[in-house]
Amino acid sequence: MKIHNPANGNVIGDVEADTSAKVRAKYARARAAQPAWAELPIKKRLATIAAFRERLAAMQDTLAGTLTAEVGKPIRQSRNELSGLAGRLDFFLAESQRTLRSETVLADVDNKLEERITHEPLGVVANISAWNYPYFVGSNVFVPALIAGNAVLYKPSEYATLTGLHIAQMLHESGVPEDVFVPVIGDGTTGSALLRQPVDGVFFTGSYETGRRVAASAGRRMIKVQLELGGKDPIYVCDDVDVKAAAAAVADGAFYNNGQSCCAVERIYVADAIHDEFVDAFVDEVRGFPVGEPTDEATYIGPLTRRAQIAVLKRQVADARKLGGKVLTGGEPIDGRGNWFQPTVVVNADHRMSLMRDESFGPVIGIQRVSGDDEAVALMNDTPFGLTAGVYTRAEKRAKRILARVHAGTVYWNCCDRVSPRLPWSGLGHSGLGLTLSTYGIRTFTRPKAWHLRSI
Ligand code: NDP
Repeated sequence: MKIHNPANGNVIGDVEADTSAKVRAKYARARAAQPAWAELPIKKRLATIAAFRERLAAMQDTLAGTLTAEVGKPIRQSRNELSGLAGRLDFFLAESQRTLRSETVLADVDNKLEERITHEPLGVVANISAWNYPYFVGSNVFVPALIAGNAVLYKPSEYATLTGLHIAQMLHESGVPEDVFVPVIGDGTTGSALLRQPVDGVFFTGSYETGRRVAASAGRRMIKVQLELGGKDPIYVCDDVDVKAAAAAVADGAFYNNGQSCCAVERIYVADAIHDEFVDAFVDEVRGFPVGEPTDEATYIGPLTRRAQIAVLKRQVADARKLGGKVLTGGEPIDGRGNWFQPTVVVNADHRMSLMRDESFGPVIGIQRVSGDDEAVALMNDTPFGLTAGVYTRAEKRAKRILARVHAGTVYWNCCDRVSPRLPWSGLGHSGLGLTLSTYGIRTFTRPKAWHLRSI
């Protein structure tokens, strides 16, 4: 399988993809290795993750360079992802032992009866991951899964294969046995081969379309399935904000990582009273984003990772234009080698347009004028997705009233495009099933076992 640099199309690697037979053999190795891993004291498993954290820090420059070369992420944002990962690992290192401790829920001395809950690993789990934040979305699964005593078959996206191989190597060097964390390399075909193995759980991050297929396959086998899928995340900017500051924050939420974030701002509703002023400030901000080589320290917008997304963005912009949308900046692919699209802002947007309904996953955003809170809430909820939603206002009570009515796994007041390891990360509807992160996202890799213990 050839690995291409999305900035220029150059081949930067050539790796061997796993055949179905190889995937089967990897599964068998993981199955055989898992019990011994689960029997280790949790402190030993935690020590491997602590060592992995050290390795990540020591290798940061190499890892960031690879991420930028294969995904096209601007180098500063690659380094940010790696630094952010350290914070997530710290959370798991600090919280896992307490969260996975067995609990006595009844100690009835008179009747000599004890009731206990233990948190057992699921066994062998498949982790099928996306390319946009390979360190974040991967580690949300494989780190707590390993700590809880599972073996992990880790299928990185084909667009983040070299990063996936770095992760495997660092985990192995940190003391995780090679058969306990096993990279499965290839494209979607390899992903389907992995799903044919009798694993005990499937943890998937990716698009709604693929997620449905993964869920159907897991459903037939009645195994645990978790899906972290896409979104069409809205922001509502109220009439009382500091317009310039809100415009800058929301533009960053929409365009960071070239808009290729599951929780990127994907549509914006602006109160009538400040709409024009907001749009001016927003467009100024977007025109100021440095577009260029992702290896350049100054670059904020690099190439798109997947070439196919250019056609999606072109279609969304053309459809918006046809239905009365006005393109204030950008709107076209950037000529040359590699996968480039201009940062694009469309106003007069509305929900007839695919731009306001379907995930863009690129540097394109629509802005719609609204009359007030009720209209904004109705529009924010007019979607089958439900990952995140946010509101910008100075008024705390108003914000909380609005956010309480919004259907989303995560809500933001005066911030956006933000993930915290301490909070559960989940999507409603087409945005997913189950969750990662927080203490819930540690226990999700276990099944509770109920013990009724009577001493005689
Ligand atoms: P895809 O759905 O295209 O791919 C996700 C993973 O599934 C990849 O590893 C892919 O392999 C694999 N795959 C593809 N086809 C199959 C199949 N038939 N059976 C099993 N596995 C398969 O998503 P992307 O990688 O393009 O990721 C972008 C999407 O992920 C966006 O919609 C984004 O919103 C979402 N996402 C959601 C997050 C969340 O937390 N909710 C976080 C990050 C992203 P390959 O790539 O090799 O084809």
